[in-house]
Order: sequence, then structure tokens, then C-alpha cells
Amino acid sequence: MKSRTVWDEESNRTLAQDLVIWYDEEKRLLPWRENTDPYRVWVSEIMLQQTQVVTVIPYFLRFLDWFPTIKDLAEAPEARILKAWEGLGYYSRVRNMQIAAQQIMTEFNGEMSSDLTDILTLKGIGPYTGGAIASISFNRVEPAIDGNVMRVYSRLYCLSDDIAKPKSRKVFDAKVRATMSSERPGDFNQALMDLGATVCTPKAPKCEECPLQKYCESYQKGTMLDYPVKSKKQKAVPKYYLALAMENKQHEYYFKQRPDEGLLRKMWTFPLVEVTKKEYETYLKNWRHYQEQLISPELLVAESSEDDLLEKLTEIEQQIIWQTQPLGEVTHLFTHLKWHLLICYGRLKPDFKQELASDERFLPIEEHQSLSFPKAQQKMIQIMNEKSD
Ligand code: SF4
Repeated sequence: MKSRTVWDEESNRTLAQDLVIWYDEEKRLLPWRENTDPYRVWVSEIMLQQTQVVTVIPYFLRFLDWFPTIKDLAEAPEARILKAWEGLGYYSRVRNMQIAAQQIMTEFNGEMSSDLTDILTLKGIGPYTGGAIASISFNRVEPAIDGNVMRVYSRLYCLSDDIAKPKSRKVFDAKVRATMSSERPGDFNQALMDLGATVCTPKAPKCEECPLQKYCESYQKGTMLDYPVKSKKQKAVPKYYLALAMENKQHEYYFKQRPDEGLLRKMWTFPLVEVTKKEYETYLKNWRHYQEQLISPELLVAESSEDDLLEKLTEIEQQIIWQTQPLGEVTHLFTHLKWHLLICYGRLKPDFKQELASDERFLPIEEHQSLSFPKAQQKMIQIMNEKSD
């Protein structure tokens, strides 16, 4: 097969055509594709930025059930939107969605604007989501470029631009625009999303099934796996915590709401005590020996440096019996951080008395649904449930 004869205008046009024909036959049937309502497109695209399609589907359906309109989202209590997002992670995304919904109510008469410039003024909506909404809902010829699309185009054109670098986006933007369908831009973008997810996959592209095979330069050269070029991400910084699972005589656990600022803000967890890696490993090996030191005030470096937590735990210290072995260990990866959590179980003495502030609760573990728990906390509860089975 001849290479590089394909990128004239006619070939660009037929590429777009071939791709949307393929999409018509092969598209994934997904709940947000039932219609092109911009709210649905928006919610689904934000969810899909962080999670696989199959995981997103129930979250999407529930989200639309709880907040059927932009107005409902704008007016919902924050705790409710966090609950709807629980387990998806990246909670700032749903908080931003609510701010954007409020912007739409006040600045755009409660309707998503069809103008990309307006859409991009909304909190949390960047070029990818903006392009998806503008093209799918309003038939605007705007690309929606994410990692999948960059992978496909880097292979189509043998592009060596580093997809991790923001400046490469311009290169991909120009290439996608040059080939985009002007009649069906929304379907073109969705076809690319599907192609990247199901055919031109990262490790084993299914070139034999690919509707763009005849246009693909890397396929012709057999170099598909050399693309995309992506510089390595910085390694996540490890952090080590003792997670204090403290139970009272009513079989309720003590939970603490995280502060208004910072990671997982306003979510509920067991109190987390930050320790060094060495301390963590020592606790892991010999908890019994160290349990007394655990909650001695000088060792309590609560993650948020909250003085009130430190004070509270120091008070509790007198009233708790720690189990001699930790219950288990959980790791959780954030974008730049890796948490290691050692679950330390303690039973509060029957005469335990404690005034609770508004950011503290005692709750039976099976009722944890009533609070917004981050994924890391859910993993700990899962381990505890397994141990008690
Ligand atoms: Fe990707 Fe292969 Fe299709 Fe090229 S031919 S776009 S490498 S699946």
C-alpha cells in the first residue's frame, strides 16, 4: 500500500465519511446517547473523564434521577451532590458542575448556551467537554480532544508530539479539524471516542477491524505501538496514615468530617494520623508494642494539622482499648499522592462520654450511606465488613 497519498482534501472527506458510517453500524448504545440534550452530554463527559463506561452508567442514571435538570443540580444541597458522586473520586468536578449549573441559571437563563465561547466560561468545562457539548448537542464543528483521540491521531499521522505536553494539543486540534465531518460533527467526535475505546486501544489496536486502516500511516509502517509519545508522569508521592476505627458500645464508629479546604474536603473518614514510612512499617509489624504511643499527643500529627482533632483524640486516648493487631491495610491513588492507610481498631470504654461537634459523628458502619465517604474510606469499610463476616 502506498503511504502519504491519502492526506489530500478528498481523503480527509472520505475519512470522515468512513468513520461516521462505521459509527452508525458499531456505536455503543449508552444511556446518554438516547438524545443530545446538553445536560446529559455534560454530565456523562465529566463522569467519563475519570472512569470506565461500565462504571459510569449506574452513576449517570442515578445522577439524572436525583437531579433531572440543570436547575435541580444548581439548587441541590452540597452533601447530596457529593453523595451522588461518592466512589467516582475527583469531587471537585461535581462541585464545579454545581457552580456551573448556578452560572447557567443566573447568566444564561437556565439554558446551556450553544456558543462554545459561552460554554467555556462555565466552571470546570474545558476544551474537551466544551467541544463535546457544542458538537453533539448543537452540531458545531468543534473537536473534542482527549487522550483517546490523541492516540488515534498520533497513529494515523505518525505524530511524535508528546501528548502529555499542553502545547501538543494545538497540533492535534489542527489535525482533527482538517478531517472533521462538517455535516455530522457530533457523531464524528463520538465515533472517535468509540474508536479509541474499542478498536485503537493503547496496547493492542485491532487494526484489522479499523475503519481508518487505509488512512493510517503507522499501520502501513507497522509502528502503531510507537504511538502515542507520552512523557512519564511524575510518581505519586506516598503518604502514610493510621486510620483510627473507634467503636462505641452501641457499635457505632467515630467519623470526622474533613476541613472545608484541601483534598477530599467536607468528606467523612475515620480520623487519619499521619506518620512516617518507617513508623508505618513498624506499626504494621508490631502494633501491640506501639499502640500506646499511637495516640500520645506528640505523635499525633493529624493530616490537616487540625488542632481540634488532636485535642479530641488526646481526650479519647484515656477511654479506648486498642486491638492488638491492625485490621488491615488500604492503598489509594490520587493524581499526585498515594495514601497508605493502616486500619487500627479500638473499642471505646462503656463509660465513654464525648461531646460531638458538627463535624463529628458516631454511626453504625451499615448506615454509612448517609454520609459522603471518599473511595479510600469505602475501601476500609469493605475490609472491615470482610473481617466481620
Ligand atoms: Fe489505530 Fe490500527 Fe486503526 Fe491505525 S489502523 S487508527 S493504529 S486501529
